[in-house]
Amino acid sequence: MRPSILNPLFASAASLPGVGPKTGKLLDRLFGVGEARVLDLLFHLPAGVVDRRTRAKIAEAPLDAIVVIEVMVVEHRPARGKGPTRVLVEDETGDILLVFFLTNHNWIERSLPVGAKRWVSGKLEIWDGHRQMVHPDRVLDAEGLAKMAPVEPVYPLTDGLSQRLLAKAVDGALARLPALPDWGGMPAQLNFVQALAAAHRPQTPEDILPEAAARKKLASDEMLAGQLALGLMRARERRMPGRASAGDGRIAQKIRAALPFSLTRGQEQALAEIRADLSSESRMLRLLQGDVGSGKTLVALLAMASCVEAGRQAALMAPTEILARQHFASLQRFAEPGGLRLALLTGRDKGVSRDKTLRALASGEIDILIGTHALFQQGVDFRDLALAVVDEQHRFGVRQRLALGDKGERTDILAMTATPIPRSLVLTYFGDMEISTIREKPVGRQPIETRALPTERLGELIERLSAALAAGAQAYWVCPLVEESEALDVAAAQERFEDLQKFFGPAVGLIHGKMKGKDKDAAMEAFLAGTTKILVATTVIEVGVDAPQASIIVIEHAERFGLAQLHQLRGRVGRGSAKSACILLYKGPLGETAKARIEILRESEDGFRIAEEDLRLRGEGEVLGQKQSGLPGFRLADPAAHADLLVEARREAQRIVAENPKLEGEKGEALRLLLNIFERAEAIRLLGAG
Ligand code: ADP
Ligand code: MG
Repeated sequence: MRPSILNPLFASAASLPGVGPKTGKLLDRLFGVGEARVLDLLFHLPAGVVDRRTRAKIAEAPLDAIVVIEVMVVEHRPARGKGPTRVLVEDETGDILLVFFLTNHNWIERSLPVGAKRWVSGKLEIWDGHRQMVHPDRVLDAEGLAKMAPVEPVYPLTDGLSQRLLAKAVDGALARLPALPDWGGMPAQLNFVQALAAAHRPQTPEDILPEAAARKKLASDEMLAGQLALGLMRARERRMPGRASAGDGRIAQKIRAALPFSLTRGQEQALAEIRADLSSESRMLRLLQGDVGSGKTLVALLAMASCVEAGRQAALMAPTEILARQHFASLQRFAEPGGLRLALLTGRDKGVSRDKTLRALASGEIDILIGTHALFQQGVDFRDLALAVVDEQHRFGVRQRLALGDKGERTDILAMTATPIPRSLVLTYFGDMEISTIREKPVGRQPIETRALPTERLGELIERLSAALAAGAQAYWVCPLVEESEALDVAAAQERFEDLQKFFGPAVGLIHGKMKGKDKDAAMEAFLAGTTKILVATTVIEVGVDAPQASIIVIEHAERFGLAQLHQLRGRVGRGSAKSACILLYKGPLGETAKARIEILRESEDGFRIAEEDLRLRGEGEVLGQKQSGLPGFRLADPAAHADLLVEARREAQRIVAENPKLEGEKGEALRLLLNIFERAEAIRLLGAG
């Protein structure tokens, strides 16, 4: 339950004075989180300022910078034809023409009556040898001047929303801020409430920089909330001791002996780290990060085999049905020589077959269960689950991860991700986990030739593709998601599929997220079997799909994908021994960032380097933003600029977890408010449990 003192912050933004249903809708769109709340407005910080601090006499006023000038209105020169209305104003040093295009004449009469003293704000320019100011951004009398903020915040907007409307909404939101107790955190001159107000009311342009006191306080509180939540969850997991469950290696040995290759050094190292955790008495919570194609799944299998040797069970959870099926098929092949008993359980299993699987699971006739979210549903009971592996873990929430762990007695958890996390972010998101990293790829992989091609050259591409297919190649053809971009002109997968069919006939398959499960399987199987040579796909193939014989990937509208995503997609090829190619089709002209992205991809196949570059190009919010990864991104902090604060926040969180693990007393209450404000209350719910 959220403390009621915070209710005003979680109220709908549309309830604020001056925010009607129309503005409310715009705010919903701006924040993209469903119904916009007061809190969203408060966390929407200015991205720039208009600096109106420069005052000058006309003769000394600088050109091309905003200046406020005190003037007398001399005369109106009404518009002729389509020309502008001009108003001559002066001070003792000179005069200016104020120029208004298509402006309501009554407004000019009212705002600039002849003979009156006014203050105008805007940029001066010289036109035809005379000083003029086109559309002053402020025309004020003495009273208006007194109210004008010398430094005015500028907010990121969305179509149809104006600075004025947004600023008004923010004012309303600030007025709703309750007085909050001090939860500590970074020693600061400001408390959280003061810092929010100050962040929205910059006094100087420097006040919106990450180093500004208010920004630092907000960042540090946000980071403290995040680190505290992680720390509390971690502590909960620690409170439940693990069980040693590493076996003697007899099954793993057989599996390894039958492999047509040997493990890479990185795989060996990761496996050794995992086995060490498994054989210790404390509970494992480890993240295995490795670039696409680095062979994480096999490491997971050998780890699971180790648990089976110890007489226990393991589970592997994948984010999609396709991936679960594929893991099942490929692991079954590897596991066979070890005599492991694998089973598959997904949302599609119903009735008798599901019951049968569940019974076998409960009686221990299944060693390793592979599946989707269905794994942690009610009724799925293991005889003795030792290890839960979560593949592509960023697709799952912490709660789901915990739910799977709760299926066993002191279950160890291994999470895997193919999205390399830039070093600066690891602590933020995975501060609660140990980390193993596989950097290298299996030997014998050929470099992928990456090329960018404008859409206009599609015809050429199709010709070359048909030559490659004739020579036995197979290709993915990726189109951006349809539902994410209704308004944009997207070459929908369906349309492209039909186009390509005209050239390639039945050799073209289609797979997308809206298809029924069975149809997806069929499309995937046809491609794996080589019945179809081109698989037109939305990004459903992004995660983990493994078809080693595919050697070409065409990515349409490459400019719409992020760098990390492009890298992931490209990782679908280059898995066999054939030379592979990745063609980035783009619709020009490309912006600077898009160009830089494509250049980096052409230069590098190192996911870690690409992730760092991605961070640099897009900022943290996007790299690991909610959109891509489902992880809660920062809203107030800038992890690159506030890296020191993160280290401090982590230390502070550890101190709190050690001294006051149940968040009791006055300070504890305050910290609970902090967690609620940053929507980390999940951690509070776990305080009592376990
Ligand atoms: P990811 O880390 O992206 O999940 P996978 O586990 O899907 O990678 O492995 C990619 C491919 O590489 C699979 O076909 C797998 O069988 C193969 N593979 C795994 N380890 C090795 C290795 N040491 N040498 C050669 N191929 C390997
Ligand atoms: Mg994988």
